[in-house]
Amino acid sequence: MKRMTYACLNLVTIIGLWSSRAVGSSAPDRDVIAIRCGQLLAEPGQMPINNAIVIVKLGQIESVGDSTTQIPPNAQIIDLSDQFVLPGLTDCHVHLSMEFTPDIRMRTLQESDADRAIRALENAHKTVLAGFTTVRDVGSGGDAVFAVRDAIESGRVHGPRILSSGEAITPTGGHGDDTNGFRDDLLPIPTPANGVADGVDACRRAVRQQVKRGADCIKLTATGGVLSNIGAGTEQQLFDDELRAIVETAHLLGKRVASHAHGTRGIKAAVRAGVDSIEHGTFLDDEAIQLMKEHGTYLVPTIIAGKTVEHNAEIPGYYSAAVAAKARTVGPVIQEAFGRAQRGGVKVAFGTDAGVCAHGINAKEFEYMTEAGMSASDAIVSATLHAADLCGLAGRIGAIRPGMEADFIATRSSPIDDIAVLQDVRFVMRGGVVIKQDGESLLRP
Ligand SMILES: [Zn+2]
Repeated sequence: MKRMTYACLNLVTIIGLWSSRAVGSSAPDRDVIAIRCGQLLAEPGQMPINNAIVIVKLGQIESVGDSTTQIPPNAQIIDLSDQFVLPGLTDCHVHLSMEFTPDIRMRTLQESDADRAIRALENAHKTVLAGFTTVRDVGSGGDAVFAVRDAIESGRVHGPRILSSGEAITPTGGHGDDTNGFRDDLLPIPTPANGVADGVDACRRAVRQQVKRGADCIKLTATGGVLSNIGAGTEQQLFDDELRAIVETAHLLGKRVASHAHGTRGIKAAVRAGVDSIEHGTFLDDEAIQLMKEHGTYLVPTIIAGKTVEHNAEIPGYYSAAVAAKARTVGPVIQEAFGRAQRGGVKVAFGTDAGVCAHGINAKEFEYMTEAGMSASDAIVSATLHAADLCGLAGRIGAIRPGMEADFIATRSSPIDDIAVLQDVRFVMRGGVVIKQDGESLLRP
């Protein structure tokens, strides 16, 4: 019932968003849309179909067929017959409420949850206009991203489908402890509600508190990280029993677990504890690759984040000394690590860490993935079928099949021939609502 209401709201909104191209009738049926596709990649990993027609009804895909497909009378027609159509993309690692700039430490003290919600909505808009119709937000403070997620889901504002982890679970002084390096009296001492937890009981509590607040998944920081202002390296920081407690509690509550992990030991400990994905995976070795294959653990590579921090570390004053030192060790090796992992047969789900890099340039990651040896076709699979699987949304998004969500994007030419065209998405439909057409945003300011 809720789903139907949402679809109807979306279609009502089309009236304001979409300039009708229907021909021959004065009363087009706004519940039914026919999309003519020059080429259609209905199933990522397979061959595209020429001159396909997709019928959308109430925000969902009704049918997929060739040029002889019967178009229902009075359907609205969207003509993409000179374009390449594929499923909307998914980025499994973003931070919508964050934009890392040199003044971030001052903003941590100044900004309210309301400021962060507005920032998160702005970034959600940039992301969906770049062709990413679903994102997994892995680590954000307060209620900002939950509020944006719910506003989009209810149809009050437009944006990508958002899965949110709430606060990352981290030990005191760990990568996700936002109070690192601040004077004790400036910020409240963090608690498991803020994701900061030491010991098994506190880790269980931290997970339960994120789920209580509305988390769709759980993020943990198994190792140190680059942008936390602490000189504690990038190796394992949560103990094995803490990792297990987090994973067991999350899985008990039906939530997937994403683990931030750079250091070799920390990657292996997280995989053995049963996390569903390793984020970054910078210093993985052959044993880690083997373990990930045995456990079916996804790698979410975020090469663009490594490139970004490596670049910014050379700008005087951009990062603190502790952060710059870590950026110089992680940045140069992350792309090569990804190449080894994917050649070794590890499953890959697309992710950028947007917020570390700028929001809206997510598709640049595809170029870095193919540079490292992945085929363009496999890179597209990572951002569609694999990302949907990791997010627990297989069967709803990631392909263009009857019964799935009407999330499409279109490019001028085939991204299988030239992956860079995904950085210039011309058309975006999310849940049956046209958000971008002819390269122009149809979102209200
Ligand atoms: Zn991140």
